[in-house]
Amino acid sequence: MCGIFGVFGNPNAARLTSLGLFAIQHRGQESCGMAVSDGKVIRLRKKMGLIKEVFTESELDQLPGSIAIGHVRYPTKGSATEFNTQPHLVETLAGPTYALASNGDIVNYHAMRRFLEDHNVYFKSDNDGELLVKYIAYQVMRQGDGIIEAIRHMMRDIKGAYSTVLCTRDALYMFRDPHSIRPMVWGKMQDGTVVVASESCTLDTLEATDRQEIPSAGIIKVSDEGIRVIENDPALYRSVPNPRHCIFEQIYFSRPDSYHFGEDVFRVREALGAALARADHGLKADYVVPVPDSANFIGLGYSNEAKIPLSLGLIRNHYIGRTFIKPEQTIRDESVRQKFNLLPNFFKDKSVVLIDDSIVRGTTIRKIVELIKHAGVKEVHLRIGSPQVKYSCYYGIDTPSKEELIANRFDLEQIRQRTGVDSLKFLEINDLRTCVQKPEDYCYACFNGDYPLGVAGD
Ligand code: AMP
Repeated sequence: MCGIFGVFGNPNAARLTSLGLFAIQHRGQESCGMAVSDGKVIRLRKKMGLIKEVFTESELDQLPGSIAIGHVRYPTKGSATEFNTQPHLVETLAGPTYALASNGDIVNYHAMRRFLEDHNVYFKSDNDGELLVKYIAYQVMRQGDGIIEAIRHMMRDIKGAYSTVLCTRDALYMFRDPHSIRPMVWGKMQDGTVVVASESCTLDTLEATDRQEIPSAGIIKVSDEGIRVIENDPALYRSVPNPRHCIFEQIYFSRPDSYHFGEDVFRVREALGAALARADHGLKADYVVPVPDSANFIGLGYSNEAKIPLSLGLIRNHYIGRTFIKPEQTIRDESVRQKFNLLPNFFKDKSVVLIDDSIVRGTTIRKIVELIKHAGVKEVHLRIGSPQVKYSCYYGIDTPSKEELIANRFDLEQIRQRTGVDSLKFLEINDLRTCVQKPEDYCYACFNGDYPLGVAGD
């Protein structure tokens, strides 16, 4: 998963990009980067590390310009190296000409890369952002397209999820795949600066108003000539396909204070909790305890519906970083222990409904249940605010291979035994569908294997 940001028309473009990316740091913590244009030169900085570590004041001082794009990365395709960090540049004899940053994954990456390599295009990374920018540049330089036409060709030929920003020396382009799988929203600051980001919480930070989602298969160009919105090219799609937004953004990935796909993320999460509670009618417990922070609103929804008090019995250390992507199981186990602690003397002899948003490998919940039991809990009823994750995601969320997914290896009763809880329920997919306003507009592939764009191939 990754986060993107773009800005046009502000002399402090690099500083705004650093602020904007900081608000979506949760979408990627491995590496970050930005490309800034002063109208003549595009300068690029990218490194492993967090925004505040990489973009110090002195670093930002070296990035003058009023147009910028930026990226925070959590690797899905390509290893966690500086090479794979975005943005990616295309350089011509006249210097860097295009810079691009994207959130998503390309399904026909290998075939399209082979096509470009056969036409003497060279790659420096294994990252799909590089494929997008090189394909666009190929269309412009070899086929004589304008940039908008080149992006349309890219949309026709490249299949996948991409919420993308591209800058040239004098313009910012923003565009999104026809199914709008990942979120992407743009708006204007009070002084007229145009900003675009993966999530609306960034626009809040910058006090940007007039917000809109980037349309499916839409392209927006911002330049000194103004803002041009190209909704959809009927030559590409007679009608834009149904959106297939990622349901996991609503369940887990996005910040609860964001709004996208036409709804407030925190309200969807409260609805997940309420739906779980309805399926549990009559269950008695002393407290509802959510796994912080991801399950807080799901816990609140459950508590309100079931009329069982909510308690923040688990405390999370916010400085631990990502436990999910640690390379070995023992390190993941240790990291979970460092990440969570219990309120002292809280769990003894209590019966609790423990809520998490999802179970993937089972690492987090197994360790938490172990801790709670050690603290003398009487009963643990584990409730998960999503269906069982049985399939890998090919559209931009880092899911381990199918073989590592606990729900793919074991049935419900086996998972209950392995987690050591008294009872276990996942949200049913039909109940999940009732928690969003337009259920047909979402992708549920990680739960049901129904991949709207197929799976990644050669
Ligand atoms: P696991 O410990 O492998 O079962 O992972 C489940 C936990 O990680 C849940 O508590 C989620 O909040 C979180 N999680 C779920 N999916 C992801 C993901 N793709 N990347 C990072 N964390 C995740």
